[in-house]
Amino acid sequence: ARLERLYQKGPLLGKGGYGSVFSGVRKSDGLPVAIKFVSKLQAEEEIELPEFEGPLPLEVALMKRVCAVPESAHILHMLDWFNLQTQYALVLERPEPCQDLLAFCLDRGGRVDEGLARQVMTQLVGALIHCTCRGVLHRDVKPENILIHTDTHAIKLFDFGCGDLWKSTAYKEFAGTLDYIPPEWFLRGKYHAGPATVWSVGVTLHSILSGFLPFGSPRQIIKGRLRLDDDLSQECRDLICWCLSPKATDRPTLEQIQLHPWLQ
Ligand code: ADP
Ligand code: MG
Ligand code: MG
Repeated sequence: ARLERLYQKGPLLGKGGYGSVFSGVRKSDGLPVAIKFVSKLQAEEEIELPEFEGPLPLEVALMKRVCAVPESAHILHMLDWFNLQTQYALVLERPEPCQDLLAFCLDRGGRVDEGLARQVMTQLVGALIHCTCRGVLHRDVKPENILIHTDTHAIKLFDFGCGDLWKSTAYKEFAGTLDYIPPEWFLRGKYHAGPATVWSVGVTLHSILSGFLPFGSPRQIIKGRLRLDDDLSQECRDLICWCLSPKATDRPTLEQIQLHPWLQ
């Protein structure tokens, strides 16, 4: 009831694998918001973090961590959240006008040019370094989970629903989206946070530039043969190939991506 008192719910914005997201406005001042409903059945267990009182649903806890001040301009803010009967409701900021990056690309013939991809990458890598500093692994980096302001091209990373706390040891569980999973998970059943994140950044960069995924199936991910468009600059192809190195330890760190010539 408090949710309805404070926010006016509008039309459905999108449906992902885990939740339904509605457009909305904050009644007090007309601020545009998005309200994401996540079923408690699908939500991960609650966790306790030292900086917050009491247990929190994992997605909420991760968002609170990345949104704490000083915040990143390139991560979508959570303004509020509600523990309802059968679901959680996350109240998120809604940049206007915006689209997720997949819809944005599809509206422009499937892909974007190198200049725009470079702008996206610079902001995305900054957002992911911010997550790492806060001890948060996003684990579902893909165009559908990046919002782009259609005028300024400012981006905001969102959807921490597959995320986890950042740890230096290996993760064993599958989480995220099949097309963005690194080969080491298929080969050895485990992956490390840094190289798996960089792999998904490489898949994202490839996809927005070419309009299709670099690998169409787990078999192709393992084979790892990349075919890159001749139209792309040498620096750009070099960065994509580096991020998509078959061996996890050959991939750049997020900081090395920032320093790559293509992003200078
Ligand atoms: P799921 O966890 O189910 O994937 P998401 O949080 O990714 O749910 O949201 C699903 C879709 O809803 C997104 O891909 C996007 O198109 C839309 N969406 C989500 N949050 C917002 C927002 N704050 N503003 C505008 N659109 C949003
Ligand atoms: Mg999503
Ligand atoms: Mg999700």
